[in-house]
Amino acid sequence: MMHPKEEKTFVLIKPDGVRKGLIGEIIKRFEQRDLKVVAMEMFQATRKEIDSHYPKADSWVRRLGEKTLSTYEKNGLSIDEVKKDFGTTDLLKVGKVVRGWLVDFMVSAPMVRMVVQGVHAVPMVRKIVGATMPASAEMGTIRGDYSADSALSANLERRSVYNLIHASETTEEAAHEIKHWFGKHPIHKYKRFGIDE
Ligand code: ADP
Repeated sequence: MMHPKEEKTFVLIKPDGVRKGLIGEIIKRFEQRDLKVVAMEMFQATRKEIDSHYPKADSWVRRLGEKTLSTYEKNGLSIDEVKKDFGTTDLLKVGKVVRGWLVDFMVSAPMVRMVVQGVHAVPMVRKIVGATMPASAEMGTIRGDYSADSALSANLERRSVYNLIHASETTEEAAHEIKHWFGKHPIHKYKRFGIDE
């Protein structure tokens, strides 16, 4: 069985994280929680790379559409408003629009990609990062401390939510994303003082 310390996850500091000067702060938050960066690079993504990073499955795209509808409903807006803003009430089509905004955003400036390793790295990093929507993310999480963006502002401005970071949601997703983004790059091995020895 793999030791929990060997678990690896994939993290992307999105264009807003880079442009807000938060690269150091974000890495600090992982390192202070005894996680270690084992691969890292700043790069400018192509549309093709982002398109293959985010799932294309109808179920995932529809989920983006469902999230959008629930944002509207939570804010007292009806499905008619969705129809007005997106030209459709088909949640798969709405999801496709949101996915398109996400691709536009992710190629808008350089990003930093990294592999982070440590005890239960996948859920630990998600916990440090916080909930998807910064306006409702807990204080003390990166998204809660450094952004106040909300789905409603993003949807009204016809853009992706600016939430600083992408982090893998499951170990399977992490394995897939590490291969996608670091397939040809070395993943380093070293011992953290006080943690690995
Ligand atoms: P997470 O990044 O927390 O895993 P998701 O996988 O649900 O979140 O969504 C992927 C990304 O799509 C989010 O990080 C966010 O930038 C963007 N996003 C999600 N839902 C919406 C929405 N309703 N409107 C605009 N952007 C969204």
